[in-house]
This record gives sequence, structure tokens and C-alpha cells, in this order.
Amino acid sequence: APVLLWFRQDLRLSDQAALAAAAQEGPVIPVYVLDDSVPRSWKMGGASRWWLHHSLASLDESLRRKGSRLILRRGNSAGVLAALAAETGATKVHALGHYEPWWRQAQKAVAGRVDLHLHDGTLLLPPGAVRTGAGGMYRIYTPFARAVMEHMPPADPLPAPQGIDAPGHWPESDRLSDWGLLPSKPDWAAGFGEVWSPGEQGARERVEAFLDKADAYAIARDRPSGEGTSRLSPHLHFGEVSPAHVWHRACAAKGDPSIFLRELIWRDYAHNQVCVLPAYGSQNAQGAFDAMPWRDLREAKRDLAAWQQGRTGYPIVDAGMRQLWRTGWMHNRVRMIAASFLIKHLLIDWRHGARWFWDALVDADYANNSVNWQWVAGSGVDANLFSRIMAPLVQSEKFDAAAYIRQWVPELAHLGDKVIHDPDAHSVRPESYPAKLIGHREGRERALAAYARMRG
Ligand code: FAD
Repeated sequence: APVLLWFRQDLRLSDQAALAAAAQEGPVIPVYVLDDSVPRSWKMGGASRWWLHHSLASLDESLRRKGSRLILRRGNSAGVLAALAAETGATKVHALGHYEPWWRQAQKAVAGRVDLHLHDGTLLLPPGAVRTGAGGMYRIYTPFARAVMEHMPPADPLPAPQGIDAPGHWPESDRLSDWGLLPSKPDWAAGFGEVWSPGEQGARERVEAFLDKADAYAIARDRPSGEGTSRLSPHLHFGEVSPAHVWHRACAAKGDPSIFLRELIWRDYAHNQVCVLPAYGSQNAQGAFDAMPWRDLREAKRDLAAWQQGRTGYPIVDAGMRQLWRTGWMHNRVRMIAASFLIKHLLIDWRHGARWFWDALVDADYANNSVNWQWVAGSGVDANLFSRIMAPLVQSEKFDAAAYIRQWVPELAHLGDKVIHDPDAHSVRPESYPAKLIGHREGRERALAAYARMRG
């Protein structure tokens, strides 16, 4: 009898334990189920759908080279898989385990209807694999990372199978183009293809390209101008490359990889936190923040829109928000600055920012996004202090963002390095570029006053 291979955020053939297991058992029917019912309000955002479309097309091609193909179905995961199993006579479903709360629910529902076998490989270590002395889950990053390191390096990645047995008869598949994953009009993703190559091949190339500059990462990663980081986040989110593969390749590069590897462990950390608090994306991890007097959106709506559109009057923030819109990605340092600006200077609830990122990022990831937003807000389990307020203009200078601003904010492209971070202060702001929504000092004081009220 054939076995089903259920693909989700693991769209690869190498180091894919579910595929390796399925391929040993007989004919394999690889299936991807587009399921918007299970995640409900966390269904995939627009930029992620663009990525998914191209990644699925690439996966289907790779499978065809192995004598197989990808079956596409749409609907509730458990219902679709049970029906497909009945239709094809499949007796088992193999899949990698995923830890978003809706996937954990779906896994339960699927296991209630078919014989589901879950495998590891989404993270460096499955959640809960490392525990505190008292047996609990770690809540703070540093001791968590230390414990993870004791289990590293991860096992050697599995090779892709040579060939994959096809069933005697292929079940029907939807047509990818009928799923409407790509934007129609306006085509806001027109620039994405210049920056990204979704799929396993593109992911591998990104890994290799990074190795050449990995030794500069420790310093270059904080500078948004230039490409100091790996840009692997969407590939890792969609599982086009395994974290174990990235780990081993990074260790083979010249230089000390430890700072890069620590970032990779943040990804594991975030997924662990979401297992402890599944509502991390919508609930303050520190309940005290429920009393935070955020601005009412009826009053703050225009500020939120200005932030989304990159028209806050703070060049570094606007450059980041426009990079996000044009490419579906933003540099990590700028994510921190832009998020902090929304939360503190504009005093807008972090959840509104997180939702915008969810829709706009090609690497939108429930765990990473929620944990990082709450880290910036100060409401997370392990978080920055709310009262430590980033000064966007100082950050912009300190991390040499001039070239980055020129690239993304063309109205300011003619300004020199000294004045571009704060054109208002040097009286060189062109009319086409907006004045600051709020001054730094004023914004800072309002934020601190709100925080003081929260603390009663
Ligand atoms: P590199 O610096 O090359 O790091 C390598 C990998 O490590 C990344 O691809 C990523 O998988 C992981 N990583 C790095 N930094 C972090 C981090 N702080 N937390 C968790 N994992 C990390 N990352 C996402 O993948 N999805 C998100 O939705 C997301 N939302 C964010 C929201 C905010 C407000 C902030 C401040 C950060 C967010 N991040 C998110 C984390 C980080 O910004 C990105 O992972 C990183 O910028 C991706 O670029 P890179 O692949 O070049 O990273």
C-alpha cells in the first residue's frame, strides 16, 4: 500500500526524515494541503503566499526528477488527509512535526483519523528536549542556548533519496495556478523575484553564498547597508533547508561561527516559548502589560498607516518599512528599530505591528515574529526593558545606515552621510519627505509616562 508524505513548512527532499521514512516503506504519495481553516486568524499572509507558490512549484519539479510528483489539495488538513488515504488505500502518513499551536491541533486531529508518524527536523532539537534542573522548559534564552550547545552539533543531515517509488495510480491534484497565491492587482510582489529564489535549490545557494562572508558576520550583521547576514530566514521558515544543514555548513566556513549559531538557536528558543504559551502572538507573556495604556487606534490610525507605508519622518524607520514592502524582508537591526518606534514613540500596541509583519514578511513565522515583537515591547518572557528606549536617529548613525536609507528612500538619496539620518535637524528635508510624526524626546516621554501608569 502507498504511504502519504504530508509536506508543510518542510519543503525539501534533503534531510527530510519523513520522506526518508516514507521512501523505505513503499510507493509514496507526497501531498501539500493548503489549509486556511486550522490557523484561522493566523492563516498565511500575502507575502508568505507568494513564497509558497514558488516553493511548491520548485518542490514539484524536484520530486518529478525523482520519478514522483506533488499532489495539491485544499481544505481542512485532517479531512483532506483522511479522504486521500481512503481514496488511495494509503495506510500511513509521515510528516515532520511542527509547533505552531494550530499545527499541534491539526496533528492531533490527523492522528485521530489516520496512522500519523511525526519526525524531527524542523528545529535543531525538538521542543522540550532540553530542560532545566527542575525539569521545566527554559524561559530565558542564555541558559537555554547553553543547554542546546551541549547537544550540538546536530546529527549529520540525511541525503535526499535516490529515487522515490510512485504509486500505480496518481490521485487527482489541484492546479497550483488555481490557488490564487500570487497577488493580482496591484502586483506588490513584482520586486520579490529580483531578491529571492524560493525552493530547495535557492536555499542551498543562499547557504553557500553566505559561507564566503561568514567570518565578517559578527560585525557586518548589525549594519543594514550591504548584505551582512545570511538572508536564510524565509528558506528556514518554509523548511527548504534544515537548520542542521545550515549548522554543519556554517561550522565548515572560515572564522568563528559561534555568533551566527547563537542566532540560529534563537529560532529554537522562540519555538520552545510558543509551546509553553501558544497564544504568544496575541497575548502579553507578562500579564502586567495588559494594563498598558496604548493609544486608541481610532486616534492613532493615521500614525499606524504612516508607519506601514514608511512615512514617519524617521529615515531609518521608513527605509526599513519600505524595504519590507518592496522585498518582503527587513534587516534585523532595522526590525528592532522600526518595531520599537511603533511601540514606544507611537505608543501603539505591538500586536498591530506584529500583524503587519505577518502579512508583509516572506519569512513570517509565528514563533519568531511573536517572540521578537514581545522582546522589543518588553512584554515577553525574556525581553528588553520597556523603559530602555531606542533612539532611532542615533542607531541610524551608529550602524552606518546612510547607504541603506539612500537605497530605500529615494527622496533623500541626494543627502550626504552626515545629514541623512535626521534631515529635519539640519534643515535639509525636501518637501516630498514627511516631517517627523513625533519628536524623539516627546515620544520618549509619552512612552515612559504610559509605562509608569501601567506599573501603577
Ligand atoms: P541571520 O542573521 O543570517 O540569522 C540566521 C537565522 O537565524 C535566521 O534566518 C533566522 O532563522 C534565525 N534568527 C536570527 N535572528 C533571530 C531572532 N532574533 N529570532 C529568531 N530567529 C532568528 N524572524 C523570522 O524568521 N520570522 C519573523 O517573522 C521574524 N519577525 C521579527 C520581528 C521583529 C520585530 C524582530 C526584531 C525580529 C524578527 N525576526 C523574525 C528575527 C530576525 O529579524 C530575522 O530572523 C532575521 O532578520 C532574518 O535575516 P537573516 O536570515 O539574514 O538572519
